[in-house]
Amino acid sequence: MSHSYFTRKLLNIKDKNITFSKDYLEKVKLNGITSFIFKGILTYQPTHCQKCGTLFDSKFKKHGFKTSRIVIPKVSLHDTYLDLKKQRYYCGHCQSTFTLSTSIVEKNCYISYHTKHAIALEAQNKISECDIARRHQVSHSTVNRIIHSFYESQTLNLNYLPENLCFDEFKSVKSAEGHMSFIFCDADSKQIIDIVEDRRLNSLQAYFKRYTKEARHRVKNIVIDMYAPYISLIKDLFPHAQIIIDKFHLVQHLSRTLNKTRIRFMKKFKKHGRKFKRYWRLFLKSHALLNTTTYRSVYCFKQPMREIDILNFLLDLSPELKATYDLYQELLFALQTKNLKRFNHLLETEHPLVSPEFQTAFQTFKTYQSYIKNTLSTHYTNGPIEGINNKIKVIKRIAFGYRSFYHFKSRILMVQNLTKPKTKILAA
Ligand SMILES: [Zn+2]
Repeated sequence: MSHSYFTRKLLNIKDKNITFSKDYLEKVKLNGITSFIFKGILTYQPTHCQKCGTLFDSKFKKHGFKTSRIVIPKVSLHDTYLDLKKQRYYCGHCQSTFTLSTSIVEKNCYISYHTKHAIALEAQNKISECDIARRHQVSHSTVNRIIHSFYESQTLNLNYLPENLCFDEFKSVKSAEGHMSFIFCDADSKQIIDIVEDRRLNSLQAYFKRYTKEARHRVKNIVIDMYAPYISLIKDLFPHAQIIIDKFHLVQHLSRTLNKTRIRFMKKFKKHGRKFKRYWRLFLKSHALLNTTTYRSVYCFKQPMREIDILNFLLDLSPELKATYDLYQELLFALQTKNLKRFNHLLETEHPLVSPEFQTAFQTFKTYQSYIKNTLSTHYTNGPIEGINNKIKVIKRIAFGYRSFYHFKSRILMVQNLTKPKTKILAA
């Protein structure tokens, strides 16, 4: 076995026309980085002329070499290149010259298939394109180009939609209207179906009209947050679907409102402002979970207190705050125990004492009352999408933001394993 054989094995080069001479490896500093340079020679007798296609005969002459530096995967964690001396030929039939080609790299390209393949696979991980570029000795724009040429664009089946869907939105790129994009997934399999750049009604209507009537008509449940355009969209295009307001969003809406009230009181009672600020969690916590047994020394008070004492101290400052808090807890409890009767009763009763912030929230709840009914009678939530949204945040953060929605979307689909690298490339 020659050292050419072993070097080809080491570099995983399948092309047997590449050979390595005795002093084939050099360790040099390239742009300040210690790198390996392998020196290979590519030579074989071509079967035909690459320019005119004439079969090889005596009119073909060897015509020197052309050396190109090809990026190949790292060896022992060093940047590694292959300086490939490629045989050139002169064809007497068309009086032109051509360079021999090899299977390790595309014609007129300096990045090996192995490196391209590694880049394409790495795009499925939560890693920034900059980091991929650094790891594979190529530029950022090269990574971008490779990723998008290696992945097939996602194929949508416009004749089918699952029976149960989740609709949600996420903070998208700056070019998206309002910076928000729309995402929807299968509530049962928890798979993303698609991402739409613009979540406004017109754009979503145009988008969903591409699906067949049959596909849309078989949808039975759709979980949404309290965003009015979704409701008109569903009524318009999904006539058989039941609208479910996501439970998580309801609770979130409640706690935001309570927070607003708390902050107003924090400003009003300047003397206790610090306490309002420090113990914000106690207000939102479900009342049953408050600590009522252990006394602890607490920062803002002189004597040891239980959680419930701190809360009561602050609530006793204002009857309005107390009333608002009590109502918040009642609504929260009704939601958590899925007690529809209790919830409706609370909505239908007058609560003159509660804060103006809560009055507004109440009006919103009344508007959506018929859909909240569905929330309390089903197990579907937007939980699956929340998980995906967290992942999207990570992708965005590691990439330091995306300017193009197209790139952002395809990366999300890659990390979610929804688009696969083209098989042709995988085999190479
Ligand atoms: Zn020719």
